[in-house]
Amino acid sequence: MKAAVLEFPGPLLLVDAPKPELTPRHVLLKVRACGVCRTDLHIAEGELPQRLKNLIPGHQIVGEIVDGATRELSLGTRVGVSWIGGVDGTCPYCVRGLENLCDHPDFTGYTVNGGYAEFALARADFVFPLPASLDDLHAAPLLCAGIIGFRSLRVAGVEHGDHVGLFGFGASAHLAISVLRAWNCEVYVSTRGASHRALAESLGAKWVGTEKENPPVALDRAITFAPSGDVVVAALASLRKGGVVAINAIHLDRMPEFDYDRLLWGERQIRSVANMTRADARDFLAIASEIGLRPQVTTFRLDQANEALAAVKSDSINGAAVLVP
Ligand SMILES: [Zn+2]
Ligand SMILES: [Zn+2]
Repeated sequence: MKAAVLEFPGPLLLVDAPKPELTPRHVLLKVRACGVCRTDLHIAEGELPQRLKNLIPGHQIVGEIVDGATRELSLGTRVGVSWIGGVDGTCPYCVRGLENLCDHPDFTGYTVNGGYAEFALARADFVFPLPASLDDLHAAPLLCAGIIGFRSLRVAGVEHGDHVGLFGFGASAHLAISVLRAWNCEVYVSTRGASHRALAESLGAKWVGTEKENPPVALDRAITFAPSGDVVVAALASLRKGGVVAINAIHLDRMPEFDYDRLLWGERQIRSVANMTRADARDFLAIASEIGLRPQVTTFRLDQANEALAAVKSDSINGAAVLVP
């Protein structure tokens, strides 16, 4: 099969790789689309430590089951695979229902091969059947950007009608805003890039500004998407007392010093958002289908995987990048 392989670190190389062999409790998928996530970029650039030699990245896989079918997952079923590729089920976190924090997790496209390929193997208990209303291209970006964006709203404790700030407006934020609008939240978006601001406005933001501007109201909740500690501090500075900043970034450049008395006192909170649970995935996909969530996508061929990563890095496309093998 054709696959885009990372000989760490460095650009991806399009190669002929062996088709994955079916193993017990797994399904073999023919990949129909695979979303490109900022985490893929962090992996390719070595900001996350190398875990596999000759890795096939990609963790927003829409695939069709072509082998390993079970009673619940018949041949031909269209499923999604996300970043959480497996957990041990036995560690203290799994036992407490916090499988996103599992001590021995597998991450798709990082500790196990992912979907930048014509075929992919996935644990049968970590695939999510996709509603027919979500087509391949538009379902792919939901599978990490969407689910993690949704989890960020949960971690931030967003309630219906809240004033919510989104700092950065890439793939994840442009999905989260639709959920927020469905919950009657007022959404304030700070982001660099005029096209991102225009997109935020068209998706119903109450206010949009550059990354240097502060929202005109004190926020109940804020979610940061940029891999920048300065943005976290800007979000903190926009919060009301008791408000929460959720950081939706697997990697930050650094965390700058900030003034505790002014920015954190008053029971303000900073929380990170780590991975996702299967419940997050199922709940989000149900909401996405219900509200007719349709991400903006730009498609790339498998042999354009490096261009797709570069586009994510430079924020040069609106919405999400999707590879179609
Ligand atoms: Zn565990
Ligand atoms: Zn991701």
